[in-house]
Formats: sequence, structure tokens, C-alpha cells
Amino acid sequence: MNLEPSQLAILTCPVCHGSLRRDGDVELVCDNHACGLAYPVVDGIPVLLVDEARRPDAARA
Ligand SMILES: [Zn+2]
Repeated sequence: MNLEPSQLAILTCPVCHGSLRRDGDVELVCDNHACGLAYPVVDGIPVLLVDEARRPDAARA
């Protein structure tokens, strides 16, 4: 399953309601630089849960 641009357009960050951009196949990153949370995409399905999001100040694996 692939995310279509039309699907991305309706997805917003649950924290700040900013738009999300895709980062590869594995994350959706909030475009709001003050927020910047990165949400995982699991099996093509975005997991828009704050508890699952990566903080912008966290080190990349
Ligand atoms: Zn955000």
C-alpha cells in the first residue's frame, strides 16, 4: 500500500495540525518547524500518535 498525495493532503499533525510531508517510506514529518515531530509509517499506514512520534531533538537511529 502506498500513500497517495491526496491522502497526504488530508493528514495533519495531531499536535499542531501542521501539514505532514513524507520522509522516505518510513516516516511522516511535521512541516511546522516549531513542532517537527516525525510519525512512523507502518505497513503503509501512518501512525499519527504522539506517543509513537520521534522528537525532533532525538538522535536518528
Ligand atoms: Zn506538528
